Amino acid sequence: MDIISNKVKSLTPSLTLAVTNEVKRLKAEGETVYGLAGGEPDFDTPEHIKEATITALTEGKTKYTPASGLMELREAISAKLKNENGLNYGPTDVVVSTGGKQACFNALAAVLDEGDEVIIPAPYWVSYPEMVRLAGGKPVIVETKESEHWKITPEQFEEAMTPSTKMIIINSPGNPTGAVYSKEELEAIAEIAASEDIIIMSDEIYEKMTYGETKHVSIGSLSEEINNLTITVGGLSKAYAMTGWRLGYTAAPPAIAKAIATIQSHTTSNVTSFAQYGALEALANDASEKFIADMRAEYDVRRQYVLGRLKAIRGIRVTEPKGAFYFFVNCVDLGMKSQNLADKLLSRHQVAVVPGAAFGHDYGVRISYCTSFEVLSEGLDRFEEFCKEHY
Ligand code: PMP
Ligand code: GLU
Repeated sequence: MDIISNKVKSLTPSLTLAVTNEVKRLKAEGETVYGLAGGEPDFDTPEHIKEATITALTEGKTKYTPASGLMELREAISAKLKNENGLNYGPTDVVVSTGGKQACFNALAAVLDEGDEVIIPAPYWVSYPEMVRLAGGKPVIVETKESEHWKITPEQFEEAMTPSTKMIIINSPGNPTGAVYSKEELEAIAEIAASEDIIIMSDEIYEKMTYGETKHVSIGSLSEEINNLTITVGGLSKAYAMTGWRLGYTAAPPAIAKAIATIQSHTTSNVTSFAQYGALEALANDASEKFIADMRAEYDVRRQYVLGRLKAIRGIRVTEPKGAFYFFVNCVDLGMKSQNLADKLLSRHQVAVVPGAAFGHDYGVRISYCTSFEVLSEGLDRFEEFCKEHY
């Protein structure tokens, strides 16, 4: 008899985390690596958030909190969603989870039965299909086109629907493509979802990272009917540079929120008590807005720099990302599969990128600009050299 369950045997470990950890390991060994793989802000968590957390710790806020999170925090998230996103979820519809990652998994586990299908537009964030499988569902991957800016079209959504479709995952701004859906595009998706009561998991963890004229729209804000079908996932990791703190949340229609709370009450329980006080400060203190605005401005400058550099490289194709902090580079003309490409780029040119295979696209790579200009500039010089050699 096999020790490991069939469910888990079919899973692969997170490739994004594996690449990032490999870069950290090589650097610790004194190797030079130009890391363009990291999926986390290179900014430090703002001081006011750290201080509030230290105060909570010193004051002895070190005990269990309610499993779904401190009520003050759930109230603050509910108010934020109402004021900033036009979303109508009460405090008890919010569950504070261990990062956006647990929030996504809770959402899936709450609604999926064995064999339920979940439509996932590709390139997708690495963990969605694996989480769906773990929750007993069946991922249905829909390949989006570069010409559609890597967004699922209403026609594709309709074609992918079967009587077993339970859910669609929308991630806007998206990882790894930086695609941001407009209000009109979301309306078209919402209309189809509503016609068959398909649940929408809307992962909005990059909501603060949009550039130029592009605005983030929450699909659940489009109508009450859609709100009743939407589980909104958010988190503090990216917006407040708090990846290590593990703070995310779901906001869901009451029955789903209750199911999520139940799951969490039997699995991880509450997020670290004093970290929740840090989250409260992040949401309450106006200083956070300035931090976010500065970080976004810096990322926009980098984004434009990288866009200019990538456009000038022969043999690759790139679409302007409107959000998040990634480029998805189409390398199909280099004629190499993504893992092979990423391995060679790292071993011969010391540049780390994430192979597109992690995201369901085997002829591309993800480049992140969460790193200094020096690293970006040298890393892109080397990437250019590599492309010259292979085109
Ligand atoms: N969703 C997406 C699209 C992400 O890129 C990430 C990044 N890790 C997460 C969810 C999970 O974020 P967290 O670090 O808060 O778990
Ligand atoms: N979401 C980030 C990324 O895509 C962090 C890694 C992970 O959680 O998978 O790189």
